[in-house]
Amino acid sequence: MEKKSTQTELIHHDYVPPDGFGAFTVPIHHASTVLFKNVAAMRSRNWQDKSAYTYGLHGTPTTFTLEARLASIEHGTHCLLAPSGLAAIAMINFALLNTGDDLLIPDNAYSPNRELGVWMEKDYGISTRFYDPMIGEGIRDLIQDNTRLIWAEAPGSVSMEVPDIPAICRAARERGVPVALDNTWSAGIAFDAFEHGADISMQALTKYQSGGSDVLMGAVITRDEQVHRRIELAHMRLGMGVGADDVYLVLRNLPSLRVRFAAHDAAAREIAAWMKTRPEIAKVLHPAYPDCPGHEFWKRDFTGAGGLFSVIFNEAYSEEQTDRFVDCLQLFKIGFSWGGAHSLCVPYRMQGIRTAWKEKGQLIRFNIGLEDPKDLIADIEQGLNALSA
Ligand SMILES: *Cc1c(COP(=O)(O)O)cnc(C)c1O
Repeated sequence: MEKKSTQTELIHHDYVPPDGFGAFTVPIHHASTVLFKNVAAMRSRNWQDKSAYTYGLHGTPTTFTLEARLASIEHGTHCLLAPSGLAAIAMINFALLNTGDDLLIPDNAYSPNRELGVWMEKDYGISTRFYDPMIGEGIRDLIQDNTRLIWAEAPGSVSMEVPDIPAICRAARERGVPVALDNTWSAGIAFDAFEHGADISMQALTKYQSGGSDVLMGAVITRDEQVHRRIELAHMRLGMGVGADDVYLVLRNLPSLRVRFAAHDAAAREIAAWMKTRPEIAKVLHPAYPDCPGHEFWKRDFTGAGGLFSVIFNEAYSEEQTDRFVDCLQLFKIGFSWGGAHSLCVPYRMQGIRTAWKEKGQLIRFNIGLEDPKDLIADIEQGLNALSA
């Protein structure tokens, strides 16, 4: 071809870098358009076949790499990324539920998951029922002929009850109902969802996998080809794209996932044990300690605990007082989410997010970051002292 005009050269350039570049990093492929060699290649492409590429939404080498690595962490066979943990939850619901179906959600589920269930009932004709997370095998009695999906979460968001996941999964399997587990708390490394009977493991990568408090992303991991194919259709139909730079940030932090998780875990246990000694605290809701409902299931089924736990204050303390305690903390910042290096603290009004809640004291959730636990204890101590003053 003749020499092109500068304008065209700005768009079509002949330079190709040499082959053979090696680095530990996964290349960040930014792409909406994906190119085909010829029309036949384009026509014969099946977007569901991950041996090649079709369109940015359906995957790039960057997203396929993260999916493969997340599937391997949980010993699954398939993984799909979503733009947030909540988007991953929605994708599962849209994949597996139709009008007239019945959905079971634990009463202690991540509250936007509950909210989505309420919306599906109101506007999509799907009956949504909330069950006692500690129901175990008893869930058998709740399963109807039209029940098509059971959510589980271990432990439950905020109130931290650890359900008997194998018992729930056994009862569901007898009736052929898939169980989707929100496995975010364990990061997929402290609880083996599939070995304990779940059909789907959902992760908010926003938490430990990202580890930086700077990325929103979710993942759905499966072992069952049929279930995967249904979720993949929803992924395509709903346009669940994720940004390449965000995927890179998660890939970059994966090598330190286990050591970060173990550090959060050790610090959280130390701080939780210390809080148990304080008269202001009525209960420490940390799965590794006996105050926490389902502690025995945690001991049986989990290999670690991470940095998230809650406490219930002695009921003598009013909300105003415990709010002041939170405001007094200096290292602990006030904010949602968790899994990053910074410690966080959030007071919850439990009546608003539970159908049944019997505790009378104020509940405060702590995310233990990666600061020195001694400094964190000193911070909590000065906050508690201010509370009594
Ligand atoms: C944070 C979280 C989610 C949602 O993740 P986002 O990326 O914030 O949408 C879902 N489940 C649990 C248990 C979570 O903690």
